[in-house]
Amino acid sequence: MHNLIAANWKMNPISQEEARNLFNSIKKGIGSAQAEVVICPPFLYLPAIAEGNGGLALGAQNIFWEEKGAFTGEISGAMLKDLGVEYVIIGHSERRKYFGETDEIVNKKIKKALESGLKVIFCIGETAEERDAGKKNKILERQIKNGLADIENWKLKIENLAIAYEPVWAIGTGNNCSVEETKESIDYIRNLLALSHAEGVNTRILYGGSVKSENSGDYIKNAGANGLLVGGASLNAEEFIKIVTSAE
Ligand code: PEP
Repeated sequence: MHNLIAANWKMNPISQEEARNLFNSIKKGIGSAQAEVVICPPFLYLPAIAEGNGGLALGAQNIFWEEKGAFTGEISGAMLKDLGVEYVIIGHSERRKYFGETDEIVNKKIKKALESGLKVIFCIGETAEERDAGKKNKILERQIKNGLADIENWKLKIENLAIAYEPVWAIGTGNNCSVEETKESIDYIRNLLALSHAEGVNTRILYGGSVKSENSGDYIKNAGANGLLVGGASLNAEEFIKIVTSAE
């Protein structure tokens, strides 16, 4: 399975034209990259981008856990699938922090996404306070155990789920996690997954948190990461293309 490089555009850019231009520049620059690349724009841009995606996978940044009905403002897995979306990011720390998403909500969303035939990028990671208090491993264990509760082993086949290890203190701060510390966490997560789900042995584990082209290759080569989740740097086509190339 190829390394997975996911671009999380968050709530950017602010016009369709910019979104289309950014997408087209990335598509053009990536050419026949070895890594699997998935672009996760805001929902609103998905239809326009889906039309000319030219083989680049699309991902959503959120999903609701019901298929349809009276849930004002929400978007379902069935709707995303219908549009040709392949991936969905679930459990991002910004959703946990600003929108009150608990492990239980994350679990419901993961279940529904998998049932809808979407592939999940499941984000976990500790805050600075949790790390300083020596609770990192406990937090990672809790997030994995609860997030993946009651999900059958076969649903977690390598192509269905990737885990993104994203220390909260490293996201958008320029303060990326060291390769050594990332390796320790990735090894720890891999063991946890293997214990909870037989398919977990093979799950792709990504690193995310202030990834740039100067540090991206190191996570793949030396920290055991099977890919990257890239926020800020994915809004610059040239920089993002360098990151994708570094993952080969
Ligand atoms: C993210 O939002 O998932 C992320 C990793 O952001 P950044 O690369 O900007 O730290």
